[in-house]
Amino acid sequence: MKKKLPYILASLLLIYLVAILIVPTLLEKETNLVQYTNTIRVTPEAKRLYDSLDFISDLHCDALLWDRDITKRVDFAHFDFPRMQEANMALQAFTIVTKSPKGQNFRENSEDTFDMITLLNFLQGRAPDKWFSLYKRAEFQARALHKYSEKYDGKFIVVTSQSDLKQLINLRKDDTKVIGGFLGIEGAHCLEGKLENVQNLYNEGVRMMAPTHFFDNELGGSAHGISGKGLTDFGHQVIKEMNRLNMIIDLAHVSPKMIDEILNLSTKPTVVSHTGVKGTKDSPRNLSDEQIKRISASNGLIGVGFFKGAIAGEVKDIVDAMKYIRDLVGIAYVALGSDFEGAATTPIDVTGLPLIVQKLIDEGFSEIEIRAIMGGNLKRFLLEHLPKD
Ligand SMILES: [Zn+2]
Repeated sequence: MKKKLPYILASLLLIYLVAILIVPTLLEKETNLVQYTNTIRVTPEAKRLYDSLDFISDLHCDALLWDRDITKRVDFAHFDFPRMQEANMALQAFTIVTKSPKGQNFRENSEDTFDMITLLNFLQGRAPDKWFSLYKRAEFQARALHKYSEKYDGKFIVVTSQSDLKQLINLRKDDTKVIGGFLGIEGAHCLEGKLENVQNLYNEGVRMMAPTHFFDNELGGSAHGISGKGLTDFGHQVIKEMNRLNMIIDLAHVSPKMIDEILNLSTKPTVVSHTGVKGTKDSPRNLSDEQIKRISASNGLIGVGFFKGAIAGEVKDIVDAMKYIRDLVGIAYVALGSDFEGAATTPIDVTGLPLIVQKLIDEGFSEIEIRAIMGGNLKRFLLEHLPKD
């Protein structure tokens, strides 16, 4: 028996190494799908308008979760730098996911359910510190974006301040292939209950954070958790610290009670990085009219998601949600919040954004409104609310 042990261990190691090579890509192909059944065709007029948009930007993309080198183009899933350039995009928010309960759903999830990201990190062959520490996972993904940027020959800028953003805007005047991104976090459980980790993640470049994701955590209740509770003392402290640092508060996935409490507490406008609206799809995932009114009254921003759950599933449903928000509170609060790469099915990948412009035109949106939705609003928001330097 003893003689066999080395062989068994070697075989297990071999199986693990092969799994690392194959499984993450298979998983990504399975979970980030594009399903398009509409018949919208982009007219030359819409294409001209699309090509003239100088700052297409999006509030939510989970590309850093997967192990794929996003500086290289692939023909599956939603996003990579080359496709972002092809889509004439200027800026993407890269949101970091660190824990996701098995059987994740929009109604009710327990914090104690088996965590799929632990399994994913294991299968991705990431170092064992990432298997057990949520903070390390966040740090790893934040650093990954900086590495991708270094690899991309000065064509990708990690935006951490107003001056970085101005630099990106200026560079794009001569070369629209220069693109940028900023870092966000989905769920502040990666702080591991330590207030100083807000500053630590800020130092890693993180500029936006959602207090909760799919389950209740140390900060308070998730919209899909069990307790429905509001801010804890720790949550209260984190919000104040984020205000101090000019880190943008993202209300996506937060319980209704906690949304109200954060809006009362925060001295800065908030965003909802990826969401739908109850007015077009009644889901626990989506914002009520009252919430939309409160967020806009504080000069916030609402990123409309492209995924089933936020919307019914087609490009027209994305535009319906945008129209609903515009009619309720005005155009200045609408942004893109795709949720590309978020283990989601969407009707388009990043190169399909012209279909949204076409549908906006068809629905009677003016050119000014289209420019605002496709990125003008987010540009204005970040120029005002990112840290200055
Ligand atoms: Zn999400």
